[in-house]
Amino acid sequence: MNARELALRTGEAQRLTHVTIAGAVIKRLPWDPAAEAEMFGVDWMDESTPCNDCGVSAGQLHWPTCDQDRTPDGSQTCGLPLEAYSDGGPAA
Ligand SMILES: [Zn+2]
Repeated sequence: MNARELALRTGEAQRLTHVTIAGAVIKRLPWDPAAEAEMFGVDWMDESTPCNDCGVSAGQLHWPTCDQDRTPDGSQTCGLPLEAYSDGGPAA
């Protein structure tokens, strides 16, 4: 994947603000390396640390299906099909 494809994919991911899990539309959380560092008790992450799976920067939404993608209730979204991701509008 070249830099342009990477940027497009990251841009597209920012529009997919929600996931549907068991019929419920849930907002996704942006990558937060500081929270992640605290959760895992590591000191090598800071705000400049990109997601180690999909590479987005702090404050950006992960690419769909990224292993680090989370919802506010702590659900992990990895394993969800791409179709589960949406802009939060009414489900098709
Ligand atoms: Zn990610």
